[in-house]
Amino acid sequence: MYTNFQSFLEKEITDIKEAGLYKNERIIVSPQGGEIRLANGNKVLNFCANNYLGLANNPQLIAAAKEALDTHGYGMASVRFICGCSDIHKLLEQKIAEFFGTEDTILYAACFDANGGVFEPLLTEEDAIISDALNHASIIDGVRLCKAQRYRYNNADMADLEKQLQDAQAQRFRLIVTDGVFSMDGNVAPLDKILPLAEKYDAMVMVDESHSAGVVGATGRGVTEQYNLRGKVEILTGTLGKAFGGAIGGFTTGKKEIVEMLRQRSRPYLFSNSIPPMVSAAGIKMLELISETNQFQDKLHNNVNYFIGKMKDLGFDIKPTQSAICAVMLYDAKLSQDMAAKLQDEGIFVTGFYYPVVPKGQARIRVQISAAHEKEHLDKCIAAFTKVGKEMGVIK
Ligand SMILES: *Cc1c(COP(=O)(O)O)cnc(C)c1O
Repeated sequence: MYTNFQSFLEKEITDIKEAGLYKNERIIVSPQGGEIRLANGNKVLNFCANNYLGLANNPQLIAAAKEALDTHGYGMASVRFICGCSDIHKLLEQKIAEFFGTEDTILYAACFDANGGVFEPLLTEEDAIISDALNHASIIDGVRLCKAQRYRYNNADMADLEKQLQDAQAQRFRLIVTDGVFSMDGNVAPLDKILPLAEKYDAMVMVDESHSAGVVGATGRGVTEQYNLRGKVEILTGTLGKAFGGAIGGFTTGKKEIVEMLRQRSRPYLFSNSIPPMVSAAGIKMLELISETNQFQDKLHNNVNYFIGKMKDLGFDIKPTQSAICAVMLYDAKLSQDMAAKLQDEGIFVTGFYYPVVPKGQARIRVQISAAHEKEHLDKCIAAFTKVGKEMGVIK
């Protein structure tokens, strides 16, 4: 039996390679940070991590995690409702709710699980989910697991959202779901327009803050801070794996009855292990740090403004962004791959994206800015883009 399946897989894998879509892993041997060391010994500047606040190797988070190893041990060896819930899991949930101005929080092993487990327990075939076309894969999968009627609107297109809401009026409950920041362009969901439409057409709203938490808004409290709508959205989901320390873990935070129901019925919560206590402890420390001071958020925002300002002055075509994601548009797939490779030769770690990750003819290099970057790192990155960009005729 396996012989047939083996040759089937070998052929599929060859096809992936021939299409130029094969994903290789680049091995890092240092902690994650602005500057990293690769297995081949090279040091490179990292411009493709989600380490927005530079906390992935923060000494205070590491100390908090080490302390929790001593006080709470290594693992919980249980799901939450049997015996997998510690005092620090509860405290982290409370701290997340305080941070976002919400009522209650439920933790998951990852945001992929939070999104996978949010729709099915809450909505049935009588209801409607209205989803942005560019939403994250985990939202798409979560919606697939739910029997609600599905509606899709073009990315951030409010006229289309309104049309879908009109079409969904026959259903009992309606939930609009959107990423807070869309990861390929860096644009923020227009929540200031989504909420009035939700009001008009009697819908609830869910925002996935994975790329916006810690980043968007003056104090990094996400898209609801940006639009002055804190506490106004029924459901927020997010990750501890990006700006919030970069380890692992996800959450759903929002209305208390919703969270209460998820604790009863959400399958990734009921049938999957708790996050390690050290991750909870470091998460609590992280929220304390970024609430006591705005230094990480300020540094990130200054870095983003500096980098994008310089790149535009040089003549690069940058997608409008309101986040720490900077898409350098190249349009041509091969160019995006060749340019990313040349940048890596210059010691700059970035990734080129092309179809089907982004629409055809919209190839780009995505640069992710971090508070872990010092000005000299940004200047080196800009110098490398200038050199390679001129060589390849991208800028004059
Ligand atoms: C990264 C990401 C996730 C997944 O988060 P994990 O905690 O790594 O599973 C979910 N949604 C969005 C929008 C993301 O960007």
